[in-house]
Amino acid sequence: MVLKIIKYPDAILRKKAVPVDKISEEIFKLADDMIETMLKEDGIGFAANQGGSLWRIFVINTTPHEDKPTPVVMINPEVLSQEGSVNAEEGCLSFPELYLAIVRPEKVRMHAKDLYNEDFVYEMDGILARAVFHEIDHLNGTLIIDHVGALEQDKVKKYVDGLHCKTTHT
Ligand SMILES: [Zn+2]
Repeated sequence: MVLKIIKYPDAILRKKAVPVDKISEEIFKLADDMIETMLKEDGIGFAANQGGSLWRIFVINTTPHEDKPTPVVMINPEVLSQEGSVNAEEGCLSFPELYLAIVRPEKVRMHAKDLYNEDFVYEMDGILARAVFHEIDHLNGTLIIDHVGALEQDKVKKYVDGLHCKTTHT
């Protein structure tokens, strides 16, 4: 099932997701729905908060530049180490049409469980490392607008004011 994507300023995007203690039917279904939603929207990643759930899960498409997607489910993800830094434009399905220059680590080494409770260590770089930090941020209630420097603050203000106008007039 494709989930309704929760958009800013919905309060759930500011909540901290809680660790998954048991991989139940609910978790299986949620992961499946999150993958379906991510692929339909052409996203590289999708965090549970964005689908209205507060479990520490995100999904990521590890082959974003290929025809065939390779979705991976990351449960209770943790960053083990990181390296370097890159400044690049980043978007978010919860902020349609907003793209902000954000500095993120270049490489990540992380740990997560899969749907079968197996432990995995992943090493990723480039756009995938960026996606991992973006999605872990979501699970902690942190959003792209929290990362911008002084130059981008104006862009964020205009975007947020625009949302405000839309909600007051429609
Ligand atoms: Zn996002």
